[in-house]
Amino acid sequence: MAPDFVDIPIEYVKGIGPKRAEWLRSELGVATAGDLLEHLPFRYEDRSVFGSVAGIASDAVSIQLRGVIMGINQVPGKRGSRLVAKFQDETGTIDLVWFKGARWMASQIPVQQKVVVYGKPTKYQNRWNIPHPEIELEAQFEQRQGAGLQPVYRTTEKLTQRGLSSAGLAKSIRALLRHPEFRVDDRLPKAIQEELRFPSRTQAFYQVHAPQNAEQAEQGRRSLKFEELLLLQLKLLKQKQAQTQDVPGVRFAEVGDLFNCYYSEHIPFELTGAQKRVMREIRADLNTGWHMNRLLQGDVGSGKTMVALLTALLALDNGYQACVMAPTEILANQHFASFQDALKDLPVRVELLTGSVKTAQRRPILEGLQSGEVHLLIGTHALIEPGVQFKNLGLAIIDEQHRFGVAQRSKLWAKANPAPHVLVMTATPIPRTLAMTAYGDLDVSVIDEMPPGRKAIKTVHRTDEARLSVFQFMEDEIKRGRQVYVVYPLIEESATLDHKDLMDGYESLSRRFPLPEYRIGIVHGRMKPEAKDMEMERFVNGTSHIMVATTVIEVGVNVPNASVMVIESAERFGLAQLHQLRGRVGRGAEQSYCILMTGNELSKDGRRRLETMCRTNDGFELAEVDMELRGPGDLMGTQQSGVPDLKMADLMRDRELLTAARYIGNRILEEDAALESRENAILKAALKRAQQGRPNWSRIS
Ligand code: ADP
Ligand code: MG
Repeated sequence: MAPDFVDIPIEYVKGIGPKRAEWLRSELGVATAGDLLEHLPFRYEDRSVFGSVAGIASDAVSIQLRGVIMGINQVPGKRGSRLVAKFQDETGTIDLVWFKGARWMASQIPVQQKVVVYGKPTKYQNRWNIPHPEIELEAQFEQRQGAGLQPVYRTTEKLTQRGLSSAGLAKSIRALLRHPEFRVDDRLPKAIQEELRFPSRTQAFYQVHAPQNAEQAEQGRRSLKFEELLLLQLKLLKQKQAQTQDVPGVRFAEVGDLFNCYYSEHIPFELTGAQKRVMREIRADLNTGWHMNRLLQGDVGSGKTMVALLTALLALDNGYQACVMAPTEILANQHFASFQDALKDLPVRVELLTGSVKTAQRRPILEGLQSGEVHLLIGTHALIEPGVQFKNLGLAIIDEQHRFGVAQRSKLWAKANPAPHVLVMTATPIPRTLAMTAYGDLDVSVIDEMPPGRKAIKTVHRTDEARLSVFQFMEDEIKRGRQVYVVYPLIEESATLDHKDLMDGYESLSRRFPLPEYRIGIVHGRMKPEAKDMEMERFVNGTSHIMVATTVIEVGVNVPNASVMVIESAERFGLAQLHQLRGRVGRGAEQSYCILMTGNELSKDGRRRLETMCRTNDGFELAEVDMELRGPGDLMGTQQSGVPDLKMADLMRDRELLTAARYIGNRILEEDAALESRENAILKAALKRAQQGRPNWSRIS
């Protein structure tokens, strides 16, 4: 069988050849005819309008001219020679100039023939010229399909120097489309193509690369992107299938005494609508007989802990043990205290296991776990050590997920057979569409509603000049019985300088808020864990008024009496981090404040981040802005998760297509889980191709 057209190595494409093929591979990752076809234009220029040499009056826009190249000339200059071509139309003459790739260009310019020239005029020594224009024979231009809209392709300087400017790429792509054997196989089943009114894949490539009009280009582009996203979603959904439906799980069919008793007699508040919905989702999961693997997303303070507690009670009611794993000792302690308090009137034994639990205390806990007398274990990484063995672990809850990796999750799985259900909780506000993709193997539940009665945190931006009034404000709040965080950045590369800033800040605060009236604690990464915990403890129990810290306090700490968060050099933090830090206040009934301190000089992005923080408390809205500013690959919590690299679609801009692809993908698999039907055969083949071709699309961090 002849190889597929799309698999033709790029060097055999007309106008490319082996040398340029190598550059295409290294610069754009384009290795085959198919890759080149998938290199979509990022915009189009309207090439139906012509200007004239005499009419050139501005360097603001590109201009298209029709005329003849009279002659060419290499002109030596101080910084290397340049190529000058004299161009003439009916109204006058103008120089076309090349500073780079002059020699190669010289061999390409059609002299004394009718050409179309396109480029941006500039003025040099009071005369107009056009540097690095595109040139095409007029006959070719006329003949070209849809010469009205000219595709513009992303390229690089290196490629441009080798004749593969946007126009050069366009030429090669046109050659592909005109090739007598050009055809590409469809990847979408006919029924879906018709349902969505998409063109065939072959037609779609014509539409994007040689459109008759803008609507056509858009339709072709949407269909190609959709296809790419659908294949991605199918891959992820199948991955999930393999990890859930194919893995048996224990069935928690009962809602028993513990749950009911707690829910009707001890729960301190009414669940929010979102909490109730999430509980329904979890209960449905736990009753399928398959393994649950669920991500619970909820902004800081949205009440994830209560969901964890209720889910744990379900496990206990069904005769299984549960554990909660937190990323830091401080957090584990807090969870332990709040779970113990919540369950104090119920026959549940809760224990705490962290690195600092001494061997002597450890033994009874470990024994209790093995005998089943310990029902609920709270802890840190210490939980997954090999020595910790459960009688029958049915549920593992992981709090603040982004600190844990896949490897650790799988160690938890190994603690029981069948593997325990897993509930991963995170406050990292990942937009839902991205979460579906970045955490494709997990089901996602979202708490998108705050408990009632919360006062929104007031956020302001202040520069160093306002420091004295900020100090005064801190003093006022402390006098009213509140506590204050002051956070400094600590970035690896400038750790020594940052550490100095932190210490300087601590000292000037100590002068402004002297003993014995005020007590200031400090926590940073260079301290011993015990010292850190002690300082934290003093803040938690109200002994100290101000907590000076690096971002070590970012995650989960709950001190409801703290009402002010001052963030120093706030411009150096990302949005996700700022939001996490701000989430440390606003946890009590008091009005809380977040003060973002910066110098006067701010980058454009920096300013936008601060403005966004001041404008909204909504983590999901912040995440969207964050993604716009940084691109999805950089989103906190997804760095290592391998956000898929897509060639055509964009997770941010094409969210609506992504959602549609998710929906259709689900539907296809519901009807035909193994893609065995005749109409799905092409999808199955495409999926297989995609998997061979590309490494490791998506994996949770
Ligand atoms: P997070 O989602 O950040 O872990 P928590 O679970 O710590 O948030 O909850 C934050 C605070 O909100 C806690 O003090 C908790 O008791 C309270 N809370 C949670 N759910 C509700 C609710 N439905 N109504 C009122 N308060 C609630
Ligand atoms: Mg929490």
